[in-house]
Amino acid sequence: MSITLHTGSFLHAPNGQSEGRTHAGLVVSGGRIIAFDAEARLKDRYPDAQVIAHPGLIIPGFVDTHVHFPQLAMAGAHGESLLDWLTRYTFPAELAFDDHDHAEARAQQFIRMLGRAGTTSALIFGVSFETAVQQLFSAMKDAKMAGATGLVWMDREGPKGLLQSAQSCLDASDRLLNKFCNSGHLRYALLPRFAPSCSPAMLEASGHFLASHPDILMQTHLSESIDEVEWVRSLFPQTTSYTEVYHQFGLCGPQSSFAHSIHLSDDELELLASTGSQIAHCPSANLFLGSGLFDFDRAQVNGVHTALGSDVGAGTSLCLLDVLRDFYSVQMTQGHRIDVGQMLYLATQAGANLLGLGDEVGSFAIGKRADFVVIRPIWDDLFAARWAQCNSMEDQFFAAAMLGGTSSIASTTIAGRTTIHPG
Ligand SMILES: [Zn+2]
Repeated sequence: MSITLHTGSFLHAPNGQSEGRTHAGLVVSGGRIIAFDAEARLKDRYPDAQVIAHPGLIIPGFVDTHVHFPQLAMAGAHGESLLDWLTRYTFPAELAFDDHDHAEARAQQFIRMLGRAGTTSALIFGVSFETAVQQLFSAMKDAKMAGATGLVWMDREGPKGLLQSAQSCLDASDRLLNKFCNSGHLRYALLPRFAPSCSPAMLEASGHFLASHPDILMQTHLSESIDEVEWVRSLFPQTTSYTEVYHQFGLCGPQSSFAHSIHLSDDELELLASTGSQIAHCPSANLFLGSGLFDFDRAQVNGVHTALGSDVGAGTSLCLLDVLRDFYSVQMTQGHRIDVGQMLYLATQAGANLLGLGDEVGSFAIGKRADFVVIRPIWDDLFAARWAQCNSMEDQFFAAAMLGGTSSIASTTIAGRTTIHPG
């Protein structure tokens, strides 16, 4: 089996603090990391390895914990808050995925664009059509990407073409899971859209499906906008809170993550914490739809594990560097100063942990998949001017998040396979 030695400056944050190494090397064989050490030592140890030197900063690939497959073409559409946004843009965009050719072309494009943005693993919100989700799983498999996706479940409050019965969702989900999710790195995600789109019978069926499949993930939306919270209160008048709606149907737990979770009461946060549930925080989407400011400190203090999501199409970039810029600004606006190591952790290892892939991706630990990206200035721009003044790898990473974005991702390596991006 061929052995490759990637050399340069490496920065990762396996436990929430940044750890950097210059003049270092990563030895890759069979798509996995077999050594991470000083470059000179590795050259002695692996004299026959093919050496690839990477100018710039090498970091683990990003893990996007909340992104919508069928919503690429509607990102950046003007002028609506969440509920009108769904009706005006989201549902029409998703209906188009009933067409086989459209879905297949979009699946390939979606995975390619994730890689271009530096994302090497993701929890992808699929769509209501089984064939389109099959095509998405196939595209992930072809790209050797680790991650999770599944069928979106909804049986009310949407256009007819997106609705189906709980039984039909159960059957399709079983078929998808059995066909694609037996390799360890591709996981099935149970995806009820959100409580307003799911009847009590459908939420109950979701809870049973989750309970009978301990190896799957569950993700849904929770408490994104105030109007949505009010709507859920009117749809479930007997239930004490939005979070409790999911809890009563067995949807809270360590396999579960909830996108947004902005407007939670103390009791709701405590319920997430006590059940081991997790949060996919999507600051770019929250700003774009005017949904509210997520209090990261409060989630931390309550012990709720949190990672980052782009939430494209409501999010305005697939690149987690851009999402980190919005994350930083949202927290600074609330008076919370965020550490650079914490930022890197949130976009990598924290996401891997949320996906249950913490031993597979997220850092340069030996045995993990060789998933990494190289960051450096490509253009003569503000980022390049700042980069020239950086005197640490942490400085470089922070500058890339504030000023670089997608255009600073020079290459993406997934399971040892490197794609160089055109400048
Ligand atoms: Zn979403």
